[in-house]
Amino acid sequence: MTSIVVHYKELALKGKNRPWFVQVLIGNLRSALTGLDVVTVTSVMGRIEIELGPDAAWTEVRDRLSRVFGVANFSYAAKAPLEFAPLAATILEALGDRQPASFRVSVRRADKRFPFTSPQIEREVGGLIKEARGWHVDLSNPELTIHVEMLPGQAFFFFGKEPGAGGLPTGTSGRLACLLSGGIDSPVAAYRMMRRGCPVLLVHFHSYPILSRASQDKVREIARLLTRHQLRSRLLLVPFGELQQQVLLACPAELRVVIYRRLMLRIAEKLARAWRARALVTGEVVGQVASQTVENLTAIADASSLEILRPLIGMDKDEISDQAARIGTLPISNIPDQDCCTLFTPRHPATRARLEQVLAAERALPIDALVAAAVAGVVVEEFRYPVLT
Ligand code: ATP
Ligand code: MG
Repeated sequence: MTSIVVHYKELALKGKNRPWFVQVLIGNLRSALTGLDVVTVTSVMGRIEIELGPDAAWTEVRDRLSRVFGVANFSYAAKAPLEFAPLAATILEALGDRQPASFRVSVRRADKRFPFTSPQIEREVGGLIKEARGWHVDLSNPELTIHVEMLPGQAFFFFGKEPGAGGLPTGTSGRLACLLSGGIDSPVAAYRMMRRGCPVLLVHFHSYPILSRASQDKVREIARLLTRHQLRSRLLLVPFGELQQQVLLACPAELRVVIYRRLMLRIAEKLARAWRARALVTGEVVGQVASQTVENLTAIADASSLEILRPLIGMDKDEISDQAARIGTLPISNIPDQDCCTLFTPRHPATRARLEQVLAAERALPIDALVAAAVAGVVVEEFRYPVLT
């Protein structure tokens, strides 16, 4: 067996953009498999074939492919002739000493010019296999499904399907900038937008040297994990401690959190525009904490003229945590650190900040200078996957 057949979701790829989507996906598959023994990656009538060389380890290939967005499922496959008897013989040989309680043959005809229908092929090939092995045929709930795809000139066959990451190929949607804290939510928010095909710029605000470097270490590790999906990431580390101290001195305690967030949005907007990102992403959820009441969310959003996407807005914490666990970020997010916002958070933050009050409080601050200083202090870090040693 020397090939992998990759299936993508057809529906998302309809229309005149389809060849482009497939080309982007092929490019991403090649990048994700960099360093492994891959011979070719080609488009074959509605699926993608990855031809592997003798040194490609299936477990590593499977691991990397499972994270590539735009893939519905993929299978370790072999090729066989189209004629029934040699096709069945090749399958029988590949089946080795398997002993399933029941089986079925499931055929897809990519090449509709093939002179038999799928059920006809299933009956013929299934019949030959049953004859050779004596296995019971079960069409509704077989232990083993032998998938056969009839393509021009040859057939592919495979025995199982690995689930793909779904979504759209990275790079087929517009670039976004995600405000990434070390918490549970924002990494999931970034992931969900990556899964929709958006390259996501990662923006983290830290209070070093007032606080430790812990939050930066956490987001670096989160960025590394997220990069396994989008293959290249840029992490912007923004110094925020100085601004917070100014807010602390100049603004009423109960409005501080809203004002911090508004400053973050203003800075993120500047950075997004500089890096050609079209909208912002946050991990905000209605009602999760005091700063995330509907009233406060709107008072915060007012600070930016960019669209703010909040993919988690209606989710419960346990749903988000489950997804963070699947992505692999949960254990890192759970490491305690002093978030730059917890340090300066008052005991009773306003849960319904009124915009006029916030704007009045902000008049005490040199907003433009604060934003410009933060932008000037940004440190850029690049991440790539796979990491070649
Ligand atoms: P998270 O788990 O993502 O930290 P949270 O429940 O702790 O979220 P908040 O701390 O109120 O919620 O933050 C709301 C959103 O603001 C976060 O999801 C994130 O997008 C952004 N944010 C908060 N703190 C930071 C930070 N230090 N750097 C970048 N973005 C931040
Ligand atoms: Mg947080």
